[in-house]
Amino acid sequence: MASYSPKLSERKYNNWVKAQLAVLFTKDGLEPFVCHEVQKFRLECLDGICYNNGLISGTLCSNCGTENVIKCPTNRICNVGRGKCSYHRNAATRYNPAGCPNKICHNFTTKIQNVHRYYGPSFKNTDATQWCSNSWGIAKCFMPPDGYKDVACAEETDFNGIISVIINNKNFQLKVHENLGNKNNIFEQAREIGRILRHSPTLEVEDIDLHPYFIVFQHVLSDAGYLATDTHAQDAKQKLLDLENDILIIGKDDVRKVLDDVAKTTRDTIIVEKDDQKRQSEIIKEEMIKRKQEDLRSLDSKTHAGLQLIETKTDDSLKTIETETDKSIKDIEKATENSVQIMHQKKEDIEEKVKTQSKIITEECKKAVGTIKDEGDKGKID
Ligand SMILES: [Zn+2]
Ligand SMILES: [Zn+2]
Repeated sequence: MASYSPKLSERKYNNWVKAQLAVLFTKDGLEPFVCHEVQKFRLECLDGICYNNGLISGTLCSNCGTENVIKCPTNRICNVGRGKCSYHRNAATRYNPAGCPNKICHNFTTKIQNVHRYYGPSFKNTDATQWCSNSWGIAKCFMPPDGYKDVACAEETDFNGIISVIINNKNFQLKVHENLGNKNNIFEQAREIGRILRHSPTLEVEDIDLHPYFIVFQHVLSDAGYLATDTHAQDAKQKLLDLENDILIIGKDDVRKVLDDVAKTTRDTIIVEKDDQKRQSEIIKEEMIKRKQEDLRSLDSKTHAGLQLIETKTDDSLKTIETETDKSIKDIEKATENSVQIMHQKKEDIEEKVKTQSKIITEECKKAVGTIKDEGDKGKID
């Protein structure tokens, strides 16, 4: 695994980032399964409602708001207590005792309520006008009551939201081998680890805690019911293995996502938190996250500066090489030219020498021939 930077590589913080990445990858592995099952649940609900009420198959309704199908008062949604209910606040948001005019939405409410493990769907998260067309609107009924009102799809939902759907919607038991009714089941354990990491005031995980976290996530993704043979879950499992063994290349975007998710949770907690001391520790944590986010940004700019430096150096080197090459070629050309000139000169010198020598030899020969001739003439006279 790439070490993020000298500052980011402090061991316990590094453990925390690894554990949070494990949460992120586990969520990615569960997401398609949850999407598929929620979609199936919505279609089965609609089919059942149509069949039981003598409606034509495919009948839909998008007229009823959530307030219209939730009785007043309903625990954890609206407690009238003294005077007016702020949830069922006006004529448009009043509970409709006659039920959905299309006979769909109040029946949908009952189905969601019946399948919720603790009979307390988070209706505040959701908009009933979308139930017939948007499965995620139904999924949100099984998520915690705070922090999910604005998430529109699985990608925008965090691990806590995704795994809560599996735990709280009893239909999932049909595809999960683990007994989800057991308080300490492996999915509950994974959710608890996610909570511990999210709320860690120091953004640290001890060495001794890290491996057991990975074991829990691996078990979740290996559940014998459906996930053990699901490609997405198995890909996530392999990623977890590589992450734990430090052979996974971690992108800065993944680390940034982890920090941004925790920053969001921390901000939400600060808003909700009433206890001064807890609030104070969340504010300190927010500061720490900001510092880590700045570390990442500084790592970005350093990497960029590093690349620029490398590019400049490369350019410089190329220029130097080009200049040196040009110079060498010129030198060679000059040397060659000189050599040719020298050779010419030498050739001319040799030719000249040969000429001179020939001339001398010729002269010498002529002289010798003359002498012999003279000697001969002299002999004749004698
Ligand atoms: Zn009410
Ligand atoms: Zn309706």
